[in-house]
Amino acid sequence: MYKGQRFNGVDLLLTAFGNGFSEASIHAPFVVADGLRGDDAINIDINGEYLSNISVASAICKADSMIVLSHSKSHPGSGYGGAVKNLGMGCLDKKGKTAVHEVGIPSIDYNKCTSCEKCLNQCGWNAFKKNIEGQVYLDKSLCKGELSCISCCPNEAIVPPVDCNEKMQLRLGEAALGPVKALNRKIGYINWAYDIAPLCDCSDFSLPNIAENIGILASKDPVAIDTASVDLTNEKMKFGRTGLIDLWDTDPKIHLFQAEKMNLGTSNYNLIKDIK
Ligand code: SF4
Ligand code: SF4
Repeated sequence: MYKGQRFNGVDLLLTAFGNGFSEASIHAPFVVADGLRGDDAINIDINGEYLSNISVASAICKADSMIVLSHSKSHPGSGYGGAVKNLGMGCLDKKGKTAVHEVGIPSIDYNKCTSCEKCLNQCGWNAFKKNIEGQVYLDKSLCKGELSCISCCPNEAIVPPVDCNEKMQLRLGEAALGPVKALNRKIGYINWAYDIAPLCDCSDFSLPNIAENIGILASKDPVAIDTASVDLTNEKMKFGRTGLIDLWDTDPKIHLFQAEKMNLGTSNYNLIKDIK
């Protein structure tokens, strides 16, 4: 979905090996779940408020069961990224990811744009074009709305739609039902709440951690484990912040509440063990 060395199955394998995920190190094969071109998927009916169905990577749909192991961290779009984000985004193919993201298609503010052309090579889908007058424009029919181009513009001329984070989160919470339904709920969840970063792991750089390390959470309920992770993170924020919401100005629980509405689990969690 995103420009960089993850755009197809071969890219993903190279990136996995480059980061140490290989048969030799993890004693399991690394499988690209949506195939060579990111379109090997099964459409699952979810009957949500915003999405009626969602395209889930076929290797996930065909698995007997699954452990979702998530790095618990902040996220510029969803405020928080954990189990529900890994279900409602990570388990989808390109088409599914587009369905969740398409509420984010940006526009160009021509009061700020200087036609510097920096955006022309930033989009994996080549949605930025130049017309014969030399003006840069966005071909919205090609754009997927995942907004990875925003930071490339030196003039803040690429503008996301109003409330797109909240709208994306609502879809994210609904899409999470796709893999859960495909696996008939035979899924366990582990949240690794260490090195709690401000950005998601898509970024090719890291910034100082935003909270103290918390530990490892485990559950059979994706909503419960993420709600607990958010609450524990909010209690351990660094740099005088009061909670994850301070970082990206989006409530990190919107997608969790929507997932709860879809019967994925409950936000009324119980911490049953606390090993120091
Ligand atoms: S990077 Fe920004 S300023 Fe430069 S052409 Fe693109 S939109 Fe315009
Ligand atoms: S133009 Fe659209 S598809 Fe391309 S990076 Fe920006 S948001 Fe993504």
